[in-house]
Amino acid sequence: QSKELKEALAEKIKEHNLEALVDVKATGCFGFCAEGPIIRVFPDDVFYVKVTPEDAEDIIVEHMKGGKPVERLLFTEPSINEKVPTMHDISFYKKQLRIALRNCGIIDPEEIDEYIAAEGYLALAKVFGMEPEAVTKLMTDSGLRGRGGAGFPTGMKWEATRRAAGDQKYIICNADEGDPGAFMDRSLLEGDPHSIIEAMAIAGYAIGADTGYVYIRAEYPLAIERLEIAIKQARERGLLGENILGSGFNFDVLIKYGAGAFVCGEETALMRSIEGMRGEPFNKTVFPSERGLWGKPTSTNNVETFANVPIIVNKGADWYNSIGTATSKGTKVFALGGKVSNVGLVEVPMGTTLRELVYDIGGGIPNDRALKAVQTGGPSGGCIPTEFLDTPIDYESLQSIGSMMGSGGMIVLDEDDCMVNIAKFYLEFTCEESCGKCTPCRIGTTRLLEMLEKITSGKGTLEDLDKLQELSEVVIDSSLCGLGKTAPNPIVSTIKYFRDEYEAHIVDQT
Ligand code: SF4
Repeated sequence: QSKELKEALAEKIKEHNLEALVDVKATGCFGFCAEGPIIRVFPDDVFYVKVTPEDAEDIIVEHMKGGKPVERLLFTEPSINEKVPTMHDISFYKKQLRIALRNCGIIDPEEIDEYIAAEGYLALAKVFGMEPEAVTKLMTDSGLRGRGGAGFPTGMKWEATRRAAGDQKYIICNADEGDPGAFMDRSLLEGDPHSIIEAMAIAGYAIGADTGYVYIRAEYPLAIERLEIAIKQARERGLLGENILGSGFNFDVLIKYGAGAFVCGEETALMRSIEGMRGEPFNKTVFPSERGLWGKPTSTNNVETFANVPIIVNKGADWYNSIGTATSKGTKVFALGGKVSNVGLVEVPMGTTLRELVYDIGGGIPNDRALKAVQTGGPSGGCIPTEFLDTPIDYESLQSIGSMMGSGGMIVLDEDDCMVNIAKFYLEFTCEESCGKCTPCRIGTTRLLEMLEKITSGKGTLEDLDKLQELSEVVIDSSLCGLGKTAPNPIVSTIKYFRDEYEAHIVDQT
C-alpha cells in the first residue's frame, strides 16, 4: 500500500504542477506499525497516520497548497484525546531513543547520498586514522554487547579475532532472524542498509578481515534487494572493494541466503551453511574467533549490533557508555506485539521498565482486558508475570526473572491467553526447527510437546506435570546447542509463574 501511496502522491504533485517544490521520498519503517502507512511532511514535520492513496489529493491541496495540515490524518494521542501534529508529541515515541534505528524512517535507503548526508561512512573514514587495536578498544569501552541474544561483549569478540593468528579472517553479519514475531533486523536492513555495510567494514578493519558475509533469510526479499543496492552503490563509490578511501584496506561484502532453518541463526550452524554444508551446529571446542568460517578466525555479529557501531565511532565510547544500566549499555530494539495497542518496532534505553514499554509506549492493553504476562526472548525466552513489570530491562535482570533478552521479540499477553497454550506454541516451533543432530533436543522436545498436548487436551495428570519439569531440565542440561538448551524455557517459566493454569487443565479433566 505504501508503494501505491507514493505513486498517488507523485501523480497529484504532477497534476498540481508542484514538481519543482515538492518531492516524495520512500523510507524504511517508522516503527509505528499499528498506524501505518505513515507520511512525514517537511519542513513543518507533520506526521500523518493510516494514509491511503485516496488521501493524496487532500494532502496536496489542503497541506501543500493551503498550508494547513489535514486534521483527520493526524494521530489522536489517547492520553489527551487530541489530534497531535508531530511524532515528538506521540507517547509511542516520547520514551524511545533511536540510536540503531536513527536513520529508519528518515532517509531513503536506496540513496547512498542520503546516508552520507546523515554522517554515513564518516566513521569508516575515521577508523582509518586509528590503529585496529584502538578500534576494538573503542568498542570494549563503549560497553556494546551482542544484540542477537547472548549479550557477549562486542569489543572482546573483535579483539580475540584480531589477536588470532592467520592471514585470512572473516566478518559475518547474522541476519537470519527467525524468532516468531521478531522483525528488528529486517527493518534495519530495509531502512538503513548502508549502516550495516559500514559497520562490517569497520569490523573488518579492526580484526584484519578482507571479506564479510551477510547471512540473511531468503524470506526477506525487500531487505535483500536494498542490501544488494547498497553494496553496489558502496562499491561504485570506493567504499567497498580495494584500497577503500585510499587507505590501503581492502574489504568486500557478500550475501549468503538462508533457507529458513531457524537453527542456522546459531553461529556454528550458520558458518556450516555458508560453507555449503548442512546447517547443523557443532561443538565449540575452539572459539570461532580462532577457528571459524573455513577454519579461519571469524567474528559474527548480529544486524542490530552492527547498526550501533558507526555512531559509537562518531560519538565516542563515553557517549554510548553513558546510556543504559551498569552492565547493559546503549539501547535495545524490540518488536512489540501481541495484546498491546501500539504494535510496532521500538527502541529504548537499557533500563527502561516493562511497564513503560507496555503502557507508556505500547499504549496499554486494548479492549479493557488485564495484562497477564510479557513474553520476551522468543522461543528461547520466558513469560514474565505482572509482578515484575517494574524490572528494568537489561540482560541480567531478564535472566534473573526466568526470561532473556533474546534478539528482541516482545509479546504482550492478556487475561484471555492460556499460558499452557503459549508454552505449547513455542515448543511446536522449536520441535519443528530442531535439526535432529543430538538426542536430548530431537527426542526431548518431541516428548515435551507430547506431554503439553496431553495436558492441553485435558488428559494430563499431576505426574505429567512433574515429568514435564524434570525432562525440561534434562533437555536444558544436555542439548548440544542454544536451540535445545533454551527450548524448554517457555515451559519452565510458565510452570514457575502460572502453575495454576497447568493444574486447571488437569483438574478440568478429573
Ligand atoms: Fe540440533 Fe537441537 Fe542438538 Fe541444536 S540442540 S544440535 S538444534 S538437535
